[in-house]
Amino acid sequence: MGTASDIKLINEDGLRLDGRSADELRPMKIETDVLARADGSAYIEWGGNKILVAVYGPREAFPKHTQDIDKAVVKARYNMAAFSVDERKRPGPDRRSMEISKVISEALSSAVMVNQFPRAEIDVYIEVLQADAGTRIAGLTASSVALAAAGIPMKDMVVGCTAGKVEGQVVLDLSKEEDNFGQADLPMAVLPKSGNVVLLQMDGDLSVEEFEKASSMILEATKKIHKIQRDALAGKYKAIALERSGE
Ligand code: UDP
Repeated sequence: MGTASDIKLINEDGLRLDGRSADELRPMKIETDVLARADGSAYIEWGGNKILVAVYGPREAFPKHTQDIDKAVVKARYNMAAFSVDERKRPGPDRRSMEISKVISEALSSAVMVNQFPRAEIDVYIEVLQADAGTRIAGLTASSVALAAAGIPMKDMVVGCTAGKVEGQVVLDLSKEEDNFGQADLPMAVLPKSGNVVLLQMDGDLSVEEFEKASSMILEATKKIHKIQRDALAGKYKAIALERSGE
């Protein structure tokens, strides 16, 4: 068994433990409409992450004191299943999941046309079934697909990715080992049309140059991720059209 300091995260050829180059994403797939009772749903597999998202609403916000007379409130709840990680995760909310729920709610509120639904709430349930680093970003990316699948009007999708620093190098889309033993982790999410940043967090240290490199790597990757989101939604509407043409 190696210790953290024995593990070589990048080899002489510049390849990472899973064979990826510095700016390569882990494999990703997104499906919509995986849950019958939700107004919209999505399932994402991104590297070893497996996450389900269910969207309900807009519906009257409850309890009433959570209502905003001017706009809808987006209530995202990020939850990690007890079996989603190596060491059993104690069920229920904790500081980490509350923080993640908050930043995801805020990011989604920037994309949804909340002014169209005063006093309403839009519930976004994010269930992490298997976690492998980058779950907040994977959950957020799948949430915007689930919101679109629910037919909720949005200015744009929310697309996220992480980058970080591993053995002194800036790399895209950290794996679990890189997240654990790396020097920095930078999750970021944008609205692709405007380029507005709606989530930005950082763990560890990056110089200004490293930060710029990491963020431009992320922005490049969000183009690919946005296409996967669009393809997932196009698949949904293609299936509806086929169903109708068969009537
Ligand atoms: N993790 C874990 N147990 C926990 C919380 C996190 O094993 O209670 C793992 C999990 O694989 C997660 C990773 O640590 O994806 C990184 O967690 P972080 O808080 O950085 O959030 P994330 O990268 O998932 O958004």
